[in-house]
Amino acid sequence: MDALSYLSGLIGYQLLRVLNPREGYCLAYLGGALLFAAAVMMWRRRGRKSVRGLWRLLGSRRLLTHASTILDLKLYLLNGVLILFAYGLFELSSEAWSSGARGALTTLFGAHPPLPAPRWVAGSVTTVVQVLALELGYWALHYAFHKVPALWTIHRVHHSAEVMTPLTEWRQHPIEFIAFANVLTLSMGASYGAMGWLFGSGAEPFTLFQLNILLVIHLATFHHLRHSGVWIAATGWLGRVVHSPAHHQIHHSTDPRHFDRNLGYALSIWDAAFGTLWVPERRGRVALGCDEPAHEGVVDALARPLLSWLPGPKRKPAQA
Ligand SMILES: [Zn+2]
Ligand SMILES: [Zn+2]
Repeated sequence: MDALSYLSGLIGYQLLRVLNPREGYCLAYLGGALLFAAAVMMWRRRGRKSVRGLWRLLGSRRLLTHASTILDLKLYLLNGVLILFAYGLFELSSEAWSSGARGALTTLFGAHPPLPAPRWVAGSVTTVVQVLALELGYWALHYAFHKVPALWTIHRVHHSAEVMTPLTEWRQHPIEFIAFANVLTLSMGASYGAMGWLFGSGAEPFTLFQLNILLVIHLATFHHLRHSGVWIAATGWLGRVVHSPAHHQIHHSTDPRHFDRNLGYALSIWDAAFGTLWVPERRGRVALGCDEPAHEGVVDALARPLLSWLPGPKRKPAQA
């Protein structure tokens, strides 16, 4: 295969990513988020106003042409290409983590016959444990990105968004992108290996499109609303379990009371367990951003955090 056809294949894959249900950014999931938001707003009895309100929150000219959104788009394209060309070099596969975890458990506790459990029990437990492990890994890394000053300079690229659309998901420095990708493979792979050690071949998670079905449900409903102006809040006890769109919007808030809160992905249980949870009100709105001056472009967004690591006078103190 010559270089040109290789390159066109990569670009084609990148374009087709939005049609692939194995990818979180599939159009079907974005459409699912739109339907979810529309259904909730209709349910709130706003009638026709809800469609206009939704359009204002998701598709207004000010939002789509905002400099912050333009930078999101550029980082989406950059990170999308880097996923194909580079990120794999820095990522240990979930299969490697799985066999590593299974081998470590066998070494520590010895081999044993699989626990006698029906397939649906072993499968259900594995499905849930994988998500809990993913959430724990995500929470821990996200906590580190907020609390370790050198990492916070990297994560501030994401938090500097002044308006949010689902594209803001991609507003990440490559170092952050690689780190979270590894947490995903580590937590999903290691938990799968551990469940395999426990249940044997019955420990297969229930999947759809080769993804954990609980994650597919999350992706296909409200996941993409976390980076939007659509305030949908899980409140009360549900807010201590589910990381709703409003949870994440609070995470992006400029209000110091909200700093370092709501670090979860789909669930808020680890935030509740470790004291970093802020349960949103049913209705609300927050100002978005952090103390980072606006980036002048992609190069600035990528270089500024790294330059801040160099010795010398610092421009501004980081968020607490
Ligand atoms: Zn954060
Ligand atoms: Zn975010």
